[in-house]
Amino acid sequence: MELDNHAEDLASDLGVDKEEVKADLQNLVEYSVPIDEAKQSLRRKYGGGSSGGGGAPSSKDIGEITPEDGNVTVTGVVLTAGKRSIRYQGDDLEIVEGRLADETGVIDYTSWEDFGLSPGDTITAGNAGVREWDGEPELNLGESTSLSFEDESLEVSYDIGGEAHLADLQTGDRAVTVEVTVVECERRTIDGRDGETEILSGVFGDESGRLPFTNWDPAPAIEDGGTIRIENAFVQEFRGVPEVNVSEFSTVTTIDREIDVGADATTMDVGEAVHTGGIYDVEVSGNVIAVRDGSGLIQRCPECYRVIQKGQCRTHGDVDGIDDLRVKAILDDGTGAVTVVLDDELTQQVYDGTLEDALEQAREAMDQEVVADTIRERIVGREYRVRGHLSVDEYGANLDAESFAESEDDPEARASAFLTEVNA
Ligand SMILES: [Zn+2]
Repeated sequence: MELDNHAEDLASDLGVDKEEVKADLQNLVEYSVPIDEAKQSLRRKYGGGSSGGGGAPSSKDIGEITPEDGNVTVTGVVLTAGKRSIRYQGDDLEIVEGRLADETGVIDYTSWEDFGLSPGDTITAGNAGVREWDGEPELNLGESTSLSFEDESLEVSYDIGGEAHLADLQTGDRAVTVEVTVVECERRTIDGRDGETEILSGVFGDESGRLPFTNWDPAPAIEDGGTIRIENAFVQEFRGVPEVNVSEFSTVTTIDREIDVGADATTMDVGEAVHTGGIYDVEVSGNVIAVRDGSGLIQRCPECYRVIQKGQCRTHGDVDGIDDLRVKAILDDGTGAVTVVLDDELTQQVYDGTLEDALEQAREAMDQEVVADTIRERIVGREYRVRGHLSVDEYGANLDAESFAESEDDPEARASAFLTEVNA
C-alpha cells in the first residue's frame, strides 16, 4: 500500500498518470532501488520539461525544499556569492557558491555557470537541481537551470552580504567578509596541486576571537600585517579546526580602524566544545581522571617525528629515536571528556623537571615508565583550566594545550564535588 501512496504523491506532483508512475516505481523497487532514489529518478524522468505543463519542476518555498526533491523552481534573494576555483575531473573550474533566502528559509547553492550573481539580487532559478550535503538540501545551478533576475526585490529577514565575526565562522561557510588583524603570518613553500608554490599562513584575530588562515595567493596587505578587510573568503577544515581561506578571488584591503583582538578564549563545557567538531582557541576546565599510555618520557622518529615504540617507526622501521617529553591526559568535567596533549614545555612544568632529569630518573629505575608515573601522581584527581586548539577525529577529541594551569578553586573541594557527581 505504501507504494500506492508514493505513486499518488509523485503523480500529483508531476502531473502525470498515477498508474504509469506506479508501474515504473514497482519496476525500480523490484530491482532493489531504494524508494527515495526511485522517486528521484522518476522525477528526473517526468520532470525534465523546462516550461509550462505538468512536466515542469514544482515551485517551492526554500523552507520546504528537502533532499528528496529532484528539481525545483525557487525565487529568492542572493545573500552571498563567492567565486572559487576547484579541480574537477582534471580541469580547473570556477564555481560560485553562496546562500539564497526567501521568507521561509535559507539554502546553500553552488553555481556551475557564471550567471553574474551578486548579493542583493532577487532571482528565480527554474529547474535547479537539489542534492543532499551533510543531511541538508543544497541547490545546484547549472546548464539546465533557467535563471532570471526579478525587478521587484523580495524582502527577507536575513543579512545580505557575508559579514561575519571569526567566532561565528564554521567549516563550509562561503563568501564571507571579515575585518581582522593579522596576529601571526609566515610565508611557506608547499607542494601544491601544480607543484611547489608559496603561500601565507598564520592567525587572524578580531573582537570575537582568533582563527588560523591560509592565503593561497600571497596578498601584500596580509604579509605586511595590520588591519584588513577580506571579502569573499571561505572556511575549510584543516587539522580538525575551521580555517579562513583567502584565495585569488578574495579581495583584501587595508582598513583604517583599530581592532581589539580579544585576549580571552571562548570558555565552554567539555561536552559543548567536543560537540562543535573542532574549535581553535578554546578554554575548558575539568578534572584529570587519567594519564594515558605514551606519556612521560617518549621517543620520536628522527624522520617523521611520530612517537615510536621500541625503536620501531611504523613508516621508517628501525630508527635511532629522539627522546622527548609529552603528556596525554584525560580531562573530564561531567559533560564530556577530552584528551589534553601537553608539549615538552608544559610537560616539564607538570613534571617539575627537564628532559635530562627524566632520563636520569629512568636510568636509575631502569624503566622509563617512572616518568609517566610521577606525572600521574601529580596531576590525576586535580582540576585544571586548559586553553588550546580542539580537534575531533575518529579516535576522539584532542586538545592541544597552549596553557595548562591548576584551577584556583580549592582542588580538594572540587575533586570531591566531582566524585559525588560521578557517583550519583
Ligand atoms: Zn618515521
